[in-house]
Amino acid sequence: LSRGANAMTVDVPRTTHPFLDGRPKRMLIDGKWVEAASGKTFATVNPATGEVLAQVAEGGAEDIDRAVAAARAAFDGPWSKVKPFERQNILLRLADLLDRHFEEFAALDTIDMGAPISRTRANRLRAVGMLRYYAGQAVSIHGETIETSLPGEYVSYTLKEPVGVIGAIIPWNAPLSSSIWKIGPALATGCTVVLKPAEEAPLTPLRLGALCLEAGVPPGVVNVVPGFGETAGAALAAHRGVDKVAFTGSHVTGQKIVQTSAGNLKRVSLELGGKSPDVVFADADLDAAVPGAAMAVFANSGQICSAGTRLFVERRVYEEFTARVAAYGRSLRVGDGRDEATQVGPLVSPEQLDRVTGYLAIGRQEGARPLAGGERLTDGALARGFFVPPTVFADVRDEMRIAQEEIFGPVISAIPFDDIEEVAKRANATPFGLGSGVWTRDVSKAHRLARSIRAGSVWINCYQAMDPAMPFGGYKMSGYGREGGKQHVDEYLNVKAVWIRTG
Ligand code: NAD
Repeated sequence: LSRGANAMTVDVPRTTHPFLDGRPKRMLIDGKWVEAASGKTFATVNPATGEVLAQVAEGGAEDIDRAVAAARAAFDGPWSKVKPFERQNILLRLADLLDRHFEEFAALDTIDMGAPISRTRANRLRAVGMLRYYAGQAVSIHGETIETSLPGEYVSYTLKEPVGVIGAIIPWNAPLSSSIWKIGPALATGCTVVLKPAEEAPLTPLRLGALCLEAGVPPGVVNVVPGFGETAGAALAAHRGVDKVAFTGSHVTGQKIVQTSAGNLKRVSLELGGKSPDVVFADADLDAAVPGAAMAVFANSGQICSAGTRLFVERRVYEEFTARVAAYGRSLRVGDGRDEATQVGPLVSPEQLDRVTGYLAIGRQEGARPLAGGERLTDGALARGFFVPPTVFADVRDEMRIAQEEIFGPVISAIPFDDIEEVAKRANATPFGLGSGVWTRDVSKAHRLARSIRAGSVWINCYQAMDPAMPFGGYKMSGYGREGGKQHVDEYLNVKAVWIRTG
């Protein structure tokens, strides 16, 4: 199935998976698998082949109502009595179960959203580690005693309490990790959750819901309601029974969520998109920076919110470096994610394909010079899926749309620069601020840029390093709130001040 393979001799194997039993997938509400109130279903598709994998219950406002009611009843009832130690045990059991079934989860992410199996398998340490990290956090929640200056005698302290019912809305580009990033802190803090997966990739979140039940998560604590954004998603964001929306997705949807959240002024955290700068100085270890900068964008076919898509290269190595990144991109094997040798899979959907090929056309119209890729792949079996090869545009200027707008595909916009002051300014010249990279052997330059770039993450001589204990999130229009680390747990907690007059 690799690029250039002979069309006539390639036969695409049918997609099989233990979770695909030919029956429609139901939604998880109050510990039970139920059909949508409307009876409607929608198809989820393997983006490498266009094949329908399963019909999935299509949640709407009525289902969201049922799920929120179940989450509220669990929050007010039995779940509120469950001690931190027991929540920790549940998370540890879930981590063990996920570890045991990991191959199945990796394969499910691969067939539902396209990422190469080598990539989804490599997510094991992190995905399981996130659950174990939250298990630790469950028994580490504490307030403070605070000395005040009031006359008289007081004991004053704070309590940390769960926010309540969480409406979690996630995209399709990392279904397993995104689901864990919502469910994990909810379980750790004693919140309950209604998770709305992306319509493009609902299977992994549903399978994770089943694993939650197996791990002993009580009914109503984790509910999974698949459906479309404008219906199920909007109903969840607007619901007055929801105390907080934890959203990951595009900034346009993020803006709508903030507006609809106003009804009950629920808390909102937003993990949105980006147009992240990746800055390569001439003094960098270029042998490391070439694959580093390439995979900062080509990994997951560029469908990573913090992809380093604006590649700033110091002018005196610009031609050499961009040519090497282009050659690296061309060398990557594009194909069906189920193939162990595949390094770059398809885009998730026909809509995403249109969006990315649209930007390829815009780049050419704007006068950027394609050094690699630039067209949809339609050789042989690839024609059935939604494949775009690693693409590098050179001669990009800051004001071009391909340098300003999030493409969410395997497209690098390479831009020359001359000095550190200038590149620091230009790196910040978009409305976003999610990821960023710096490649240099000069420690002063590295630290100076780490401070001056306005973004939630700065990766120096690496890109996309992630760990459950490190916070991740945006500046500016890349959102607010953090996922990962202690800050993440705090997002799911309220602080209560308690005053006792003792004298
Ligand atoms: P999207 O905003 O279209 O959809 C994301 C989710 O929101 C889906 O579940 C969708 O059904 C739902 N949704 C859509 N409209 C809605 C509405 N009106 N009300 C409520 N929910 C609604 O985004 P996408 O195209 O699926 O994902 C790609 C985007 O996500 C990119 O911009 C990417 O950068 C961003 N992203 C950000 C992060 C991060 O951590 N910062 C991670 C992954 C993806």
